[in-house]
Amino acid sequence: MSSGFAGKTAFVTGGTGGIGWSTALALHDAGARVAICGRAGDGLERARARISDNGLAGMLALEADVSSQTDIARAGEILQERFGHLDILVNNAGIDSFQRLDAFSPERFGKVMDVNVTSVFLVISQVLPLLRAARSASIVTIGSIHGHITTAGRSDYVASKSALVGATRALALDLAPDRIRINLVSPGAIETPMLLRGWAVKAPDADPETLKAKAGALHPCGRIGTPEDVASAVMFLVGDEAGFITGTEILVDGGMSCRL
Ligand code: NDP
Repeated sequence: MSSGFAGKTAFVTGGTGGIGWSTALALHDAGARVAICGRAGDGLERARARISDNGLAGMLALEADVSSQTDIARAGEILQERFGHLDILVNNAGIDSFQRLDAFSPERFGKVMDVNVTSVFLVISQVLPLLRAARSASIVTIGSIHGHITTAGRSDYVASKSALVGATRALALDLAPDRIRINLVSPGAIETPMLLRGWAVKAPDADPETLKAKAGALHPCGRIGTPEDVASAVMFLVGDEAGFITGTEILVDGGMSCRL
């Protein structure tokens, strides 16, 4: 599909999970040198094992919590040392939240905003010199259909993902003079560990396959999405073919938003 990724460098935050890993793999398969990050723990260990078991030469898995300024500064130093410039940044790391108003916790709200929103600014500002050094760079942030339509009990997650819609447009103006494009990819239901964890919270007794069929029926395309569906949209936006596209959003939701 996209061409011209050979010799390019990319950083995918939250690359240890479903969408991030698929995106990192797509970039790697297209010839880019890719670094991913995740917090210390099982996810990072599994990603490192997958990299070494599958001989994914050139792929780097960094330990970094995107809500920590110190971690992001250290990741930036490593990227500087290893890559020297950054052609592609994918702000993918995110956490879900199901918080009802009668149990509102400012700490939880702050955490959701830190990971889903503040991190985008933190990471971009940290790697800005590297993006500038690429002379023509592209950023994609992963939003959500919840930036537009939603269900009850999701107000903190919705606040975070809606914020990314406005932030993307404003950042497009700030970054354009440096020849850096930024766009948002907003998925509907995608089969990843996050979705499965969410179902376990909302419907602990239900069979995941039944929930998957029900969720699929809500999407005009007749199924829920795969991480690869999202990665395809990211690959288009970070490719040279999208060179005149900035400050906009692609919904990868199987048409779900058309229904509501
Ligand atoms: P996963 O849970 O599979 O992956 C989430 C990723 O984010 C993991 O790699 C996780 O890494 C990382 N992460 C979470 N918190 C932090 C942190 N503080 N610092 C660094 N990394 C962190 O979920 P998805 O792949 O589904 O989610 C990816 C993105 O897609 C998120 O932004 C999510 O909101 C969005 N999205 C997902 C949808 C879905 O249906 N799946 C729908 C719409 C949007 P680790 O745990 O190893 O630290």
